[in-house]
Amino acid sequence: MATLELDGIGRRFGDTTAVDNISLSTARNEFLVLLGPSGCGKTTLLRMIAGLLPPSEGRILVDGRDVTVLPPRERDLAMVFQNYALYPHLTVERNLGFGLSVRKIGKEEIRRRVDEVSEFLDLDGLLKRRPKELSGGQRQRVALGRAMVREPMAFLMDEPLSNLDAQLRSSTRTRLTALHRRLDTTFVYVTHDQVDAMTMATKVAVLNKGRVEQFGTPVEIYDKPASAFVAGFMGAPPMNLLPAELGTGVDDSLVLRAPGLEVPLPDQAGTGPGVRDVLLGVRPEHLLLVTADHVGPTLRGRVEVVENLGNEEIAAVEIGDQRVSVRGARPIHLIPGDIASLSVRPEHIHLFARSSGRRLV
Ligand code: ATP
Repeated sequence: MATLELDGIGRRFGDTTAVDNISLSTARNEFLVLLGPSGCGKTTLLRMIAGLLPPSEGRILVDGRDVTVLPPRERDLAMVFQNYALYPHLTVERNLGFGLSVRKIGKEEIRRRVDEVSEFLDLDGLLKRRPKELSGGQRQRVALGRAMVREPMAFLMDEPLSNLDAQLRSSTRTRLTALHRRLDTTFVYVTHDQVDAMTMATKVAVLNKGRVEQFGTPVEIYDKPASAFVAGFMGAPPMNLLPAELGTGVDDSLVLRAPGLEVPLPDQAGTGPGVRDVLLGVRPEHLLLVTADHVGPTLRGRVEVVENLGNEEIAAVEIGDQRVSVRGARPIHLIPGDIASLSVRPEHIHLFARSSGRRLV
């Protein structure tokens, strides 16, 4: 598939609006991740792209061609499901080839494609087994392989890694990224896991309540989240968000105030008139431990918990009635009960309007 375009796509189920007027378009052969919490509408959107569910409104264009009313088999898209949906009574080899024999493709050609795909996915040793004789990761690869042998215009995947353990998820991510590069085709991938999005996507659409909160590259979304919702969703632990106030300093300059913190802001660009109540956003890696006599903006709080992740540590620090995460290389030099002084550089501050959650600067 060269391009995918969604034009005002919506879907209602009775009174529920599952997908609300989504428009976006991708460039050639993107790895598009639809990311969002449970119930945000990502599966509904994917099913409409696949042709498994008719939209209530809007159009879907593949390569500029309107496919909105085409049945799934005429869209040339292959779907990989979370539960793999393998045929239990067929061997791996027949599972891989089944879709092709139904399409009346010749035996030789089926053999060629099955061989090629099973070699790529390390399934060659498993061709005579049935699904129940496979591990979760192997089943997942068969499901992928079954989509691959069809050589479709695009792959649509609904949480394909969710049944795998952490290590397999990680190695399968690498495999999927390699697969995307090699097949040079479009992937549309649904997940609630921001690590999937950060590691594999070329473009991410962050969904919230049926709408797109932000559409961009993973780095754009991480570095410049368009809303507090996105900021709180990307990153583990996510961005710290603290209620703060915008006010004026002695010389009419703009100042950001939070308990224990006063930061002069360089200019007023982007904050808009009249916004006073804001959310101050700081990534855990941008809270820097400083000594108590540090000169400059400092947040102070009591260390509650320190988690050791091997290469780094994450401390949970109580600041007033808020809790922030601080990430640092190990050893982070904090233990529970310590009073931590944390500084933040002005360029690492994100500001969101408290009422709407939209990004200010
Ligand atoms: P999850 O990650 O939990 O699968 P999701 O983001 O994929 O969630 P959807 O399955 O697309 O979310 O559901 C979006 C909304 O639409 C939810 O409120 C859901 O209850 C509702 N919904 C989805 N399918 C139906 C249906 N067939 N009938 C009624 N409501 C539905």
